[in-house]
Amino acid sequence: MVFLIVSDLHSNVESLQEFIRLSKKIPHDKVICLGDIVGYNANPNEVVDWVRENTDLALAGNHDYAVVEKTDTSYFNSYALKACEWTREALTMENFKYLQSLPAMEKKYRITWAHSSPYEPEEWHYITNPYDGVDNFPAFDTQLCFVGHTHRPLILKQEPDGNIEAGLSEEYEVKPDSRYIINVGSLGQPRDGNPQASFVSYDTETRLLKFHRFDYDMEATQEKIHDEGLPTFLADRLAAGV
Ligand code: ZN
Repeated sequence: MVFLIVSDLHSNVESLQEFIRLSKKIPHDKVICLGDIVGYNANPNEVVDWVRENTDLALAGNHDYAVVEKTDTSYFNSYALKACEWTREALTMENFKYLQSLPAMEKKYRITWAHSSPYEPEEWHYITNPYDGVDNFPAFDTQLCFVGHTHRPLILKQEPDGNIEAGLSEEYEVKPDSRYIINVGSLGQPRDGNPQASFVSYDTETRLLKFHRFDYDMEATQEKIHDEGLPTFLADRLAAGV
């Protein structure tokens, strides 16, 4: 089975449209969305509509729960908060209820999927280094767990002796005797210094994991941020990839 896995779409319909175009060239069976469907950018309804109609599993992230008032926003910076309030006004009632209905973590297809972390999934912990694996590997019982949330691609591997390593390569063959937490990066607002949108494909037969990056019409996304009166910083950070 081949999975295409996206996360942190953040209302960016231009990167989503380019993903849709690219996905047609990659034979696949399932499309998974790891949450943060909305927030930051200016097309929440278009992106939620697509997720509702085209994914085989969708999770909610902290921004989705913030918009539908299922998590507190006291730790949000002012840009995120402004976008959250704008999104709450912009969302249709149907999409609002859909976001409310999504879980933050789920086990399906013998894989664990979480927005932020399998350990305390609604505390929105960041997984960025091997030390974060200490709490997180015991928190799920499958070989693989895919996450988003940091907007930075990452492979965390736990070897049979318990040793945990962090790494990343464009193509990676999953070892049968190790366990993994894999961050797929962000479709709508990458933050690893590369402004190209990110998603992952995983083939359970070949065990091949591929990190895909692509350009999209970012100027259009930025223009909409300006037109809607959202913070200019949100347009600038798309270009910087931070
Ligand atoms: Zn996010």
